[in-house]
Amino acid sequence: MVCVTRKADLGRSAPGPVDRREAYGVAEISRNGTGNGHRRGIGRTKASSRYSALSLIRHGLTRGDWPRAWREHDVASSYDVVIVGGGVHGLATAYYLARNHGITNVAVVDKGYLGGGGSGRNTAILRSNYLTPEGVRFYDRSLELYRHLAADLNFNVMFSRRGHLTLAHNDSSLRTMRWRAEVNKCQGVDSEVIDPSQVKELVPYLDTSQSVRYPVLGALYHPPGGIIRHDAVVWGYARAADALGVHLHQRTEVTGIDVQAGRVTGVQTNRGPISAPIVVNCTAGWSTLISDMAGVRTPVQTFPLQAAVTEPVRPFLHAVVVSGTLHVYVSQTDRGELVFGASVDPFTSYSMRGSLEFVEGLAGHVLELMPSLSKMRLLRQWAGLCDMTPDYSPIMGETQVEGFYLDVGWGTYGFKAGPVSGEAMAEAVATRATPEIISAFGLDRFARGELVGEKGAAAVGH
Ligand SMILES: Cc1cc2nc3c(=O)[nH]c(=O)nc-3n(C[C@H](O)[C@H](O)[C@H](O)COP(=O)(O)OP(=O)(O)OC[C@H]3O[C@@H](n4cnc5c(N)ncnc54)[C@H](O)[C@@H]3O)c2cc1C
Repeated sequence: MVCVTRKADLGRSAPGPVDRREAYGVAEISRNGTGNGHRRGIGRTKASSRYSALSLIRHGLTRGDWPRAWREHDVASSYDVVIVGGGVHGLATAYYLARNHGITNVAVVDKGYLGGGGSGRNTAILRSNYLTPEGVRFYDRSLELYRHLAADLNFNVMFSRRGHLTLAHNDSSLRTMRWRAEVNKCQGVDSEVIDPSQVKELVPYLDTSQSVRYPVLGALYHPPGGIIRHDAVVWGYARAADALGVHLHQRTEVTGIDVQAGRVTGVQTNRGPISAPIVVNCTAGWSTLISDMAGVRTPVQTFPLQAAVTEPVRPFLHAVVVSGTLHVYVSQTDRGELVFGASVDPFTSYSMRGSLEFVEGLAGHVLELMPSLSKMRLLRQWAGLCDMTPDYSPIMGETQVEGFYLDVGWGTYGFKAGPVSGEAMAEAVATRATPEIISAFGLDRFARGELVGEKGAAAVGH
């Protein structure tokens, strides 16, 4: 087997369309378990100059342009894998396919721009304190990948580990917190129930008096939780996937899925047909539309979820605070803005418009928690789409249509799962076997009645 790899050409830019063979020095065509040919052995390429203190100084001195983070290509007539959806899930899957399995003849197609879906609209809270052992193991692997992501992608994703508090305002939620803490500990995840005085120590501005409508009786404290810069994660994965040879096609809408004799054979797009033996659906809020095109029915419903941000103020909130009872959560960004979120809107819709009703309800609940914020001004609000499943767990893996994969059902909590999902979906596609870490999340669990009930840990969107 001939293996021709090209050394990375660091520090030079190649914006705009490039001949892939020249750019990537495409290496061996291998046959793996899938029986499909995959191109292997790719290193960094012209498009990506390595970010470092030295390159920063060089660019400062020369005032040269930074290379574009990823390139544009013509849409090829065929790929080994087509991933529909350029959010964190689609991009991470493409990146790990290329990096971990050498499968680089991959296209990520998005009808809008990369990160234009939930991945660019979420409140970027990371945690792994779920309720089921399957959920805790899964999200904890994601946190582990997030911890090293900046170094891995050579992109500052601004991960800030600052601790995560879920408040309990009644006895039954306190009981659920204790349950979650025990499940977490059994899985080696740091979580414990703390009392109101400890909560006050961590968040002095919180009203922990007992005279309010919903007094704080305690909290589940999860020190490894935190926040990240969502755009940076998307851009970092896109840049790294591009450098490994993946084609990223923005403004490319999938309008049909080709299925012949129970096998997927490609997709139809507004830029022409693409043949592919494997198609992965990573379209979150739009996922049922894509699945329907392949004739695969899923128990997913799409709800809008809204969030809002205030003007920046000096840092005073050093933990993420969540109240399920008040349906609200708050964190402070490194720039000082307070980011608020809530539960999904109470109706299904594909609308991404904010509503006055949301901010009014939100303001009331926030002030119940922190009355001293009454003078703060909201800067903006927005909404994204959430693909909710009946058990608040995702749907991952191959479907009854051979070669058609789902990575959907991410609801209000899927950003934190981006890295582990990408890693697992890449392994599933490359090996044609279901990795153990996602074995509980197959579509057939609904027919078998083996749900992975996460509502107790995922009902408030974050
Ligand atoms: C307000 C809000 C707050 C949230 N907060 C958190 C949080 O704090 N923590 C957390 O973990 N999660 C959070 N989430 C959830 C999280 O944002 C999502 O679960 C996650 O981003 C889903 O990522 P994805 O890559 O699967 O999908 P998306 O990022 O939604 O990407 C799907 C892509 O598919 C594309 N697409 C759709 N149809 C087609 C088509 N026909 N052809 C081609 N492309 C198509 C879309 O353009 C889109 O870019 C929040 C969500 C919202 C809306």
